Amino acid sequence: MTIGVLGAGQLGRMLALAGYPLAKSFVFYDMSGSPSAGLGEVIVDREGKYLDDFLARVDRVTYEFEHLPVEVAERIAQHKPVYPAPRALQVCQNREAEKTLFGELGIPTPEWRIADSAESLQAAAEALGCPVVAKSNTEGYDGKGQAVLKSPAEAAEAWKAIGHSRLMVEKFVTFSREISIIAVRAIDGNVVFYPMAENVHHEGILRYSIAPAPGISGDLEAQAHRYIKSLLNELDYVGVLTLELFVTADGLVANEMAPRVHNSGHWTIEGAKTSQFENHVRAVSGHPLGATDARGLSCMINIIAEHGDTDRILELPYTHLHLYGKGERPGRKLGHVNVLADSYDELKWRVRNCASFLPGSPEFSCSLTKG
Ligand code: AMP
Repeated sequence: MTIGVLGAGQLGRMLALAGYPLAKSFVFYDMSGSPSAGLGEVIVDREGKYLDDFLARVDRVTYEFEHLPVEVAERIAQHKPVYPAPRALQVCQNREAEKTLFGELGIPTPEWRIADSAESLQAAAEALGCPVVAKSNTEGYDGKGQAVLKSPAEAAEAWKAIGHSRLMVEKFVTFSREISIIAVRAIDGNVVFYPMAENVHHEGILRYSIAPAPGISGDLEAQAHRYIKSLLNELDYVGVLTLELFVTADGLVANEMAPRVHNSGHWTIEGAKTSQFENHVRAVSGHPLGATDARGLSCMINIIAEHGDTDRILELPYTHLHLYGKGERPGRKLGHVNVLADSYDELKWRVRNCASFLPGSPEFSCSLTKG
């Protein structure tokens, strides 16, 4: 079976690496002009001229990137099975559609308004009460296209800085930590959940994911399962879905979802019985899903901007290094390290030791280090 993948970055690379042992082949379709998957067959098509060539080579299609025109996915779906269906892409590309769906399914979100001018941004900030977070309604990722307004008077400046014609304006949520839940739905509707991850961001970019997230109550986990399962069923979803959540005093509040394998699930490569990548390949291929239990405790450390001392990291007996074959550049995800341990104390010092070989890594500060 040949799986066509829309997008050709490191997530696609890791999907292929997980799919090869199951004798799958991969063809990537890249509209960005800068593919980095580095394996499989890659069709670079900035102007959408080679879609038929792509379709002729693949049996079914999935995504590793959600910021491509929905019309492309819809056109593909007329010829080949597309998992998840294009509606998932449409919802995840548009914060307004996403938050509306969350609301319809009873999934709590920050209070929000839409702004389409500097004046309406100011009015939204006044109505919601500052601080608020203004985000471009489409095309935002890794904290790009966002601004925090401490007062409505900052609206004109924020509007200009973001530079989009439609903004999602959210009340700033006071949270104790950020977590994510990853679930997989098979073609027959079977759903499995991974243990949740606690995520630490720095300057809008994920830096550490600890899994299973320490100290998550059964109630909170059940809440997260309910929310993501309602999304999977509503979207008749096939594959991996990720839901990012804030933990607040009043329970979980949804931030956003991603219709694909996710950076906060990279720990599953060595840290779970079946990785998120293999389970996505299994789901879109129509195979039974694999066990999602954790193998001990994990922390994923992202390698950002500089590779650091990779040989020293390779010498550590509790690490697994994954490099994406990309050149160094500020803010760029170049790879990740999965650190494994048998206790959270052990995990803490192992992560700090490993991070000392990665220049620019922020301090490892999470629920484990805050006592
Ligand atoms: P996003 O691109 O929506 O995932 O936002 C990037 C990061 O900004 C999140 O991971 C949070 O750390 C922070 N953030 C986003 N929205 C809010 C909010 N409404 N309240 C507080 N922090 C937020």
